Amino acid sequence: MGLSNNIWASPADYLRNHAPEHPVLFFSPEILQANAHRFLSGFPGFVTYAVKANPDEAVLQNLVNAGICGFDVASPVEIDTIARLAPHAAMHYNNPVRSRSEIKHAVKAGVKSYSVDSRSELEKLGELVPSEGVEIAVRFKLPVDGAAYNFGAKFGATVDLARDLVMRAQALGFTVSLTFHPGTQCTDPAAWASYIHAAAGIGRDTGVRINRLNVGGGFPSHRLNDVIPQLDATFALIDRVTDEAFGADRPALVCEPGRALVAESYALATRVRAIRDDAHVFINDGIYGALSELHLVGVIDRIDAFGPEAQLRTGDPVLRTVFGPTCDSTDKLPSEIGFPCDMQEEDHVIFYGVGAYSVATATRFNGFGNLTVEIVQSQTCALRALAA
Ligand SMILES: *Cc1c(COP(=O)(O)O)cnc(C)c1O
Repeated sequence: MGLSNNIWASPADYLRNHAPEHPVLFFSPEILQANAHRFLSGFPGFVTYAVKANPDEAVLQNLVNAGICGFDVASPVEIDTIARLAPHAAMHYNNPVRSRSEIKHAVKAGVKSYSVDSRSELEKLGELVPSEGVEIAVRFKLPVDGAAYNFGAKFGATVDLARDLVMRAQALGFTVSLTFHPGTQCTDPAAWASYIHAAAGIGRDTGVRINRLNVGGGFPSHRLNDVIPQLDATFALIDRVTDEAFGADRPALVCEPGRALVAESYALATRVRAIRDDAHVFINDGIYGALSELHLVGVIDRIDAFGPEAQLRTGDPVLRTVFGPTCDSTDKLPSEIGFPCDMQEEDHVIFYGVGAYSVATATRFNGFGNLTVEIVQSQTCALRALAA
């Protein structure tokens, strides 16, 4: 994936000059840094970034420059990337299942924090990781709703098992913490409240002092025009509920957002390949490309369409089914999207807020998916303001 050296004023500025045939991602370092500052100044604890959401080096570098100094890593490659780009940053190895060689790699790289959700993996850590100054964060799960996509199906101990793991981790000499992940794109802040109360209960029941509480990622990004994430209210709720639940034993808080830190800093320009019989819209990217997570998390309807001179299409929206370019019938967006009625073949359609789980998971299936990245100063559509 190429990253150009030009900085464009906006996506429209680039489209006017290039009319690209392949999908193009527009990265705004300024938006990324502003989002990082929002977390750093608003979250009542230590802010780490979940590398898997977008491991692009320009993203990592900008986060470091903005002051992010902790990273949630899940593999030796992610560990090595962070060790190289941010040698003084804290690494939290929060993939709760690791091979023995992966654990040895982490120990060598100086990783001091590991999550765990099972007896077998805790014993492995006990054998391979010297406990001195090392944190074990027991990851637990609750049957709560609110996320677009539940992470509890794969990871997380029940509260019962979490109590056992907390006591065993303490017996092994580790510093004991707790962690959870409410599920990605979690638009219901009450999910955090349930988890924080349960964490305090685990501490009380075991009599083990919980050193830190990592409240996960899961913070939502702005995907639908009508659903605006309430980030500051969620931070305030986490702060208040931690006080209520733990009282004088309040642990230090950690968060590890992926999506909410990076999503807004990328927009994706696709091209309309065809409007089939005035009904279905076929674009040149889809669920095998940068829109890969839409069928798991739901559609993004924050879009703009631009004509051949990059003029903003302003017709009334018409709902249409959208297909990606491959011949696979699953290559279809999960719901219809409202496109301006004056949109035409060869127009460009920009999807906003696609920085998370897009470049990280895109494929070249069927020969499509040649993505390039351009840097932009701003993603706001100046033409939209003019047209309004
Ligand atoms: C993926 C992941 C995250 C980031 O989740 P988002 O929903 O992108 O914020 C955080 N922590 C862990 C352990 C993860 O696996």
